[in-house]
Amino acid sequence: MSLLRSTFIALSGNARLRRFSERSSLGRRMSSRFVAGFRIEDALNATAALDRQGLAVTLDSLGENVSSPGQARQSGQTYHRLLDEISTARLNANVSLKLTQMGIDLGHDLAFEVVSGLVTHAAQNNSFVRVDMEGTLYTDATIGLVRKLHAVPENRGHVGIVIQAYLRRSAQDIETLLADGIRIRLCKGAYKEPPELAFPAKSDVDANFVALMKVLLKSGVFHGIATHDEAMIAATKTFVHAERIDRAGFEFQMLYGVRRDLQRQLVKDGYKVRVYVPFGEEWYPYFMRRLAERPANVLFLAKNFFRN
Ligand SMILES: Cc1cc2nc3c(=O)[nH]c(=O)nc-3n(C[C@H](O)[C@H](O)[C@H](O)COP(=O)(O)OP(=O)(O)OC[C@H]3O[C@@H](n4cnc5c(N)ncnc54)[C@H](O)[C@@H]3O)c2cc1C
Repeated sequence: MSLLRSTFIALSGNARLRRFSERSSLGRRMSSRFVAGFRIEDALNATAALDRQGLAVTLDSLGENVSSPGQARQSGQTYHRLLDEISTARLNANVSLKLTQMGIDLGHDLAFEVVSGLVTHAAQNNSFVRVDMEGTLYTDATIGLVRKLHAVPENRGHVGIVIQAYLRRSAQDIETLLADGIRIRLCKGAYKEPPELAFPAKSDVDANFVALMKVLLKSGVFHGIATHDEAMIAATKTFVHAERIDRAGFEFQMLYGVRRDLQRQLVKDGYKVRVYVPFGEEWYPYFMRRLAERPANVLFLAKNFFRN
């Protein structure tokens, strides 16, 4: 892992810098590159604008590691409101959430209760809840919780998970999840993990991403291929073409504010694309992980700041 990447990931967990940045007007301004605003209304406006361009959305109310059951339930309430707003405005959108935000550190039962309520709501609205994948401390718990929710017949197809190609265990996890018919978002992985658990070399992560993408696209279940890496996208397109896979049977997924040119081009080429739209006051850890992925973003932000 590069020094810059690990520095930004380490900074993403720094509480003091986080408090300072989230309150400062400069921090708030910089975050707008990757965060759609602070209120639900901002996120819905961004969603409607993307919708008009033919892009689907998944909404993420930012926040991680809550410290009381009340906070976890409050996070759940925000998502209930999102599901209602999406349905009322008939937006082509669903939601993505993190288990640490739903109280998993305080007890698995609490997180299950909150997420279960959301999946029931999503099923009633014919919508979908994606459970994001966090660091390896949570991998087993996340897989266990999603499988348990998906086993409820009414929830089938309305809850999905994320698998990270940098983890050595992922091929095995995909096999288990596909046996249940669970929808998967494949991404490379954004956390700092030891080499015993995650491939340290980008070439190995990329090779695993391509291998796993092939398994997913042949599975007959609707999955998300989440990447901005042109090589991964090209490999996916080539495989789709060679295997005559239906373009309506999967989607590409990208982050809000990242490679907007590529997002639009894929739509033009007839692929489904979903944009991950985060919003909220607690943008700092998310924002720092985005800088870690591409330290050139720091330069980009600085240039824009001085230009404004
Ligand atoms: C929809 C979506 C959901 C995700 N959900 C999760 C999750 O649940 N758990 C998890 O661990 N990770 C998640 N990620 C993050 C993911 O794991 C990667 O950290 C991130 O997508 C960068 O990997 P990459 O595939 O784009 O390729 P990389 O090899 O990192 O980047 C390839 C190229 O993409 C462009 N690029 C990549 N990132 C950026 C950026 N931040 N800013 C500007 N350009 C960039 C650059 O041109 C770069 O050269 C998600 C990503 C997406 C797109």
